Parts: sequence; C-alpha cells; structure tokens
Amino acid sequence: MSKNSHTKVSPQGHPEETMTQRSGEPVPRAPLAGIPAYVPGRPADLDPDQPAFMLSSNENPFPPLPSVMHALAKASSSINRYPDFSAGGLRTVLAAELDVAAEDIAAGGGSVGVLQQIIRAYAGLGDEVIFAWRSFEAYPVLVQESGARPVKVPLNGADEHDLEAMLDAITPVTKIIMVCLPNNPTGPSIRHDQLKDFVSRVPPNILIVLDEAYREFVTGPDLANAMDFYRDRDNVAVLRTFSKAFGLAGLRVGYVVARRTVIDAVRKTGAPFAVNSLAEVGAIASLKAHGELLQRVRSVVAERTRVASALAAQGWTVPDPQGNFVWLGLGDASSEFAGACAAVGVIVRPFAGEGVRVSIGAPPANDAFLLVASEWNHRRVESTTWPV
Ligand SMILES: *Cc1c(COP(=O)(O)O)cnc(C)c1O
Repeated sequence: MSKNSHTKVSPQGHPEETMTQRSGEPVPRAPLAGIPAYVPGRPADLDPDQPAFMLSSNENPFPPLPSVMHALAKASSSINRYPDFSAGGLRTVLAAELDVAAEDIAAGGGSVGVLQQIIRAYAGLGDEVIFAWRSFEAYPVLVQESGARPVKVPLNGADEHDLEAMLDAITPVTKIIMVCLPNNPTGPSIRHDQLKDFVSRVPPNILIVLDEAYREFVTGPDLANAMDFYRDRDNVAVLRTFSKAFGLAGLRVGYVVARRTVIDAVRKTGAPFAVNSLAEVGAIASLKAHGELLQRVRSVVAERTRVASALAAQGWTVPDPQGNFVWLGLGDASSEFAGACAAVGVIVRPFAGEGVRVSIGAPPANDAFLLVASEWNHRRVESTTWPV
C-alpha cells in the first residue's frame, strides 16, 4: 500500500504509531522467537569433497530404482503444468494399497509437511500438544510454530514411550497427543496391546497422531500397526512417508490417513500444490515397485541385525532397534563419539548430553562405524580396568 493511500485511510493520523511503524523492522510472530535455528545433519565444517558415509539422517542407502528414475524422467517433460491439486492419482493408488477410502488420505510435502498441517489445524495459542521426549526433533519446532505449548514427556528407562505418563499429562487444553512408533532416535516401538489400551484412554476430543515413518522396518513380534487404530477410532491420524523405506527423501512426499473430518481440516492448512508433480509420479512408481523396495528394506533390516549383534558383542547396550537406525546412549560423551566417527569419514547424529543415532547404511559404512564403536569401548574398558 502506498504512503498516499495510507494517509487517506487514516486522515487524522496517529503520529506516534506511524513513527513506530516506519522506524521499526518486521517482527515475526512471538512464538517463533522460542524456536532454535535448524541444525543440519552434516557438520558444516566437513570438507564437501571428502567422501563420507552419511549415517546421520536415516536415509535409504540405495540409489533410486531404475523404474522410478525412468518415470521421473518421463514426467519431467510436463513440469510446465501444475500438478493435481490434491495428489488425486497418488491417493487413489494408496487407497487401494491400504484398503481405505481415498477421501481418508491427505498427501503433503513429506510427512513433516503433513504434520505441520495437522498441528496448524488443531492447535494454537493456549493449547498443548503432548509427545514423548526425546523423540523426533521436528515435533517441538512445529508445535511452537503453531503457538501451542509443547509438553514433553520423558521416555522410560528402556528409551521407550512412557504411555502412562503421557496420559497423566493430558489437561483440558490438550489438543493433540503424538506417538512415534518406532521412536526416532531411540528405536523401540510399542506393543499392540499397550497402544490399544492407550488409545482407548485418550479422550475422544484429542487427536492422536501415530507417526509411522519407519513402519516398513518393524519386525518385532506383537508390535502395533497404527492402521488398526485408525479403523476403530475417529480421533486417530496415521502419518506415513516415502522418505525412508521408499528412498524418496529428496522428493518430499508423505501422507496422513484419518477420518474425513480430519482430512478436510488438514487440507485447509496446507500449502497449495504441496505435492509437486514429480513427487507424485515418484511415489506412484515406488508403490508399483513395492516388492523390489521391500526386498531392499529386508537387506537394511538384515544389516540392522548384524550391527546390533556386533554392538552387543562389543559390550554396548542398544535399545531394541525397530527403525533403520541404532541408538547409543552415550550421555556426555555423545559429541566426542560423533567426532571420532567423523574423523574416519562416518557422519552420525549426536544429541549432546544424551546419545548418538546411527543410521543403518551399506555394509562398508556400517563396518566403518562398528570399528569406531569397538575402539571406543576398548578404550573405555582399558581406562576403567586400569585406573591411574
Ligand atoms: C524421517 C521422519 C519423518 C519423515 O519426514 P519426511 O518429511 O516425510 O521426510 C517423519 N517422522 C519421523 C519420526 C521421522 O524420523
């Protein structure tokens, strides 16, 4: 708006107010001040030309399937066109795959993008959102951005969700309660009977978000399948992604399955055309190659078993890994351990003062990590066995 029209709108003027507006700078909404700046998975000071084993972001170590790359190349000839507004093609394929109505699915820019839509739709200033901690780093950021208060419920001694404590944390202003299964970054999932009991005790006016980003890697017996709860309840939303098992992290596509009313609300808070045309085509091509991709998932799981056994043999205690990563609860030594890994070109994810998350990669990457882990424990054993 021009200076002129501004004067016309307020002919009497409020000189002081006008002065403040003209001398200040744009100020973001207050809740944003509490959000820390983004921390990238790869240390900034790392030589970009030095080949490194990237075990810091839980990515799929396999390159994209030829069939997926072919579909993307073909689709790139029409990127002058807008994509389908609601990713209708992808939702139709997913609906058949999951045996749900296409109206019960909303797709978005990664499942983090979808989660942002969910939180914006259901929580704001004065509200509370409960989640376990430590869990996925995006949770507190997205909750704070909405203006709601993040309520972090500590994990139990086995680095699992403390579902009883989460239920105890519910207040009249709780709007969303999130569960990450399996939990990133610690690894354990939740038994079906435990989740069933939990879901039945959450009041029906609170949205339960079940984040299943690592669903395909789960192998443990009796573990929960979030879709079972969506079928029984109106207040359950299941989050899934193509970033991990499907290896499309760079394309940014994920989705939520929930009742129609939830989907309608979530659509309203999304960026228009959030799923771009290549992301939609890549996701559909990946679903067509499901069998081939699950074969790859099985080999990651086999490596996970090998890594976890090797760590146990070295004397480490590792919480049950049900995703494509392992957790070392190194406490105060976490950053130092990550540094020891980086020194040999293995990039892992330290959480200062808590632990280190190491993604399962290709065998040579895992071997390089296991070597550092072995030397680390050896050193520790020596220093405790031979006090000076
Ligand atoms: C990786 C991850 C996601 C997926 O993020 P995208 O935005 O789909 O790439 C969601 N939740 C958790 C817990 C994750 O670890």
